[in-house]
Amino acid sequence: MALEFDLIESYFLPLSEGFASVDVGIGDDGAVLNVPEKHQLVVVTDTLVEGVHFPVETLAYDIAWKALAVNLSDLAAMGAEPACYSLALTLPNYDAIWLQKFSEGLRDLSTQFKIPLVGGDTTKGPLTITVTAQGWVPNQQAVLRSGAQEGNLVCVTNTLGEGALGLKLALAPEKERVLPFLSKQEKVRALNALNRPVPQLAISTDLRGLASSAIDVSDGLLADLAHMLKQSSRALLKQDGGGRNSNASSATVLGAEIELTQLPLSSGVLRYIEQTKDWALPLSGGDDYQLCLTVSPKNMTQLMARLNSKGVSLSVIGKVVATHPGITCLNQGVVHNIGGGEKGYSHFQ
Ligand code: ADP
Ligand code: MG
Repeated sequence: MALEFDLIESYFLPLSEGFASVDVGIGDDGAVLNVPEKHQLVVVTDTLVEGVHFPVETLAYDIAWKALAVNLSDLAAMGAEPACYSLALTLPNYDAIWLQKFSEGLRDLSTQFKIPLVGGDTTKGPLTITVTAQGWVPNQQAVLRSGAQEGNLVCVTNTLGEGALGLKLALAPEKERVLPFLSKQEKVRALNALNRPVPQLAISTDLRGLASSAIDVSDGLLADLAHMLKQSSRALLKQDGGGRNSNASSATVLGAEIELTQLPLSSGVLRYIEQTKDWALPLSGGDDYQLCLTVSPKNMTQLMARLNSKGVSLSVIGKVVATHPGITCLNQGVVHNIGGGEKGYSHFQ
């Protein structure tokens, strides 16, 4: 791309400067960072493709915000403190106004969490944004998907279903008239959750030593909780020496029971469910970027207090069981059958 270097200098170099942890930032073949002693590096990557991860008419500011936010959300789920990020950007053309707004979206979110942009790549093609983010954790203190134990409580931060409600609004052809039972405020809240999710980084360090496992809810609660149960089951089988067993890698020994009436829902999502009975929205809508945690009952009070002191609510929605694999949803104690549409998002289905 002819203007590649101007573009990098104008829009991205300013996001790189003024950070003590960066020895060499944008401009060299690679970035050089100072890694704190006795810490491990946590590395995450997520790609957003136009039309797949965000509707075509999404604002440049929101695309940038979300591309960074989804990565920071992964760091939060690992219990990491954010360190820096890089950006691989594929653009269909050089559009100065679009780039200005895009860089403002990155700037506003990265300033909030004080992280530098340290490098990237710029190419021409269909609009695609890949962010790689790095964070630190003290040695051996990363919070993994694989630590859930029988009897742990299943919890989620804040509320679920808001981003999925926002997507319904964003995709509706007649935006003014869709979901008429929602107030204007509820619609704004849902669209904000979709376009500018706030990664739960404010509480990432609080999870260490208290949550037995964690995952960020990006594909939907049921899908992401299932990932956590699968990884935790594998870890248990390995501990028992079952790792040598040929089918151990596919076996899931842990399951979970979820009580739908305990799901934390905003007034908009609650009203949506009252009107439509569509539980798929909070169960598998995705785009939540809240954290789903498993917590031993003995750690619950302390974790709850830590999170509440930072303005984050934590709701217990169920428990981890070893009596049957899979996730059982109960509605006031009665089994609620999960429809095909409630299973979560998968790209190659
Ligand atoms: P190379 O020739 O080594 O691939 P580039 O010409 O792609 O290097 O990039 C030049 C410098 O600009 C590098 O330091 C690279 O990390 C940085 N860079 C390129 N694209 C971006 C981007 N989209 N965001 C941030 N930094 C970028
Ligand atoms: Mg390059």
